[in-house]
Amino acid sequence: MTAILVINSGSSSFKYQLIDVDSETELAGGLVERIGEQLGRARHTNVAAGADRQDKNLTIPDHTAGFAAMIAAFEAHGPHLADVDLVAVGHRVVQGGAIFTGPTVIDETVLAQISDLSELAPLHNPAHVQGIAAAQANFPDVPHVAVFDTSFHLTMAPPAYTYAIDSALAAKYAIRRYGFHGSSHKYVSEAAAEFLDRPLEELKTIVLHLGNGASVCAVDGGKSIDTSMGMTPLQGLVMGTRSGDIDPAVLFHLNRKAGYTIDQLDELLNKKSGMLGMTGTGDMRDVEVAALAGDAIAQAALDVYYHRIRGYVGNYIAQLGGLDVIVFTAGVGENSGIIRERALEGLEGLGIEVHHERNYQFSRDARVISTDASRVTVLVIPTNEELEIARESRAVI
Ligand code: ADP
Repeated sequence: MTAILVINSGSSSFKYQLIDVDSETELAGGLVERIGEQLGRARHTNVAAGADRQDKNLTIPDHTAGFAAMIAAFEAHGPHLADVDLVAVGHRVVQGGAIFTGPTVIDETVLAQISDLSELAPLHNPAHVQGIAAAQANFPDVPHVAVFDTSFHLTMAPPAYTYAIDSALAAKYAIRRYGFHGSSHKYVSEAAAEFLDRPLEELKTIVLHLGNGASVCAVDGGKSIDTSMGMTPLQGLVMGTRSGDIDPAVLFHLNRKAGYTIDQLDELLNKKSGMLGMTGTGDMRDVEVAALAGDAIAQAALDVYYHRIRGYVGNYIAQLGGLDVIVFTAGVGENSGIIRERALEGLEGLGIEVHHERNYQFSRDARVISTDASRVTVLVIPTNEELEIARESRAVI
């Protein structure tokens, strides 16, 4: 069996999936977390065997020990790595800057470049570097491939990625829109064309990736032409804990009037804003339940959430010069009928009509939720970033 191990590493945890290359199915997956804390945990599921999740508490001093814990979990609960022809390890990397236009086999130079890009992604890239080095130490004989969240958006033209600031300053500090969630937007827009059995090159698509982090992407003929996240994942839609779009002068105001420091503002906008800031909870399920129970604060916050989405849909119809497909994906987009329906309410004049019953029918599969008369086809397609990373890793080895 030929397989690819996909790794998504954070500073104190990493997720993994072992994917069968031919069937494109998950053989096993897990999470190693609380690395560096007193007590860590390794969770592992042998998906191929239909087994239950296995949890083990143990001390995990660093990422290298984390990979040893993962390998031990494979040994204990299967599938046995010795029986698998592991052809690559694919790593999710959040920030690839303007350098990495596609998946890249990692050598010393590439690892140094990923590390250098930490300036643009201080929360993510250093953790990826740690994860990659530890994975290389544990799997020295297979190629390691970096797949960047930003690569898919490097097809954007200058007007879409340029911020209207001093151009010398922007060039010196690499300030521009990069966009994120690229693996998801790519996977989902391609899956939409396949699902509709239409040539990707002909389709104008808007992908609404609504998870804890959320972004919109305008995809023209398979290429990203605009996306809502910016130099960092803070711009754009209202998110679980991030503000999304805001007048930058709000920060000057909070600094001058309320004495907020740069670090406090960073924390405020990234960790204490969005749905959490407006309602007290960043989990959309809780917000939805509260709103349905008549909570006026939750309802008002959801109205802000919908308003922002609708604004981007209108914007991207203009940027695309038309629209064939809207796709909902990720935790909120795949699961919340009410949010899908409300977000697109009032857009009938733009040819977007959601079918009430189809929208509320629960399914884990790709499906149409628009009416037959809707000029724009509205779809729900479960995203699969791990599979996209495995596909792209395979393509370059
Ligand atoms: P991440 O950005 O962390 O990958 P996910 O794509 O898994 O996030 O999405 C997580 C979000 O999806 C959470 O806010 C969660 O509340 C929301 N979510 C999951 N199921 C539902 C549901 N049935 N209704 C509304 N929101 C949901």
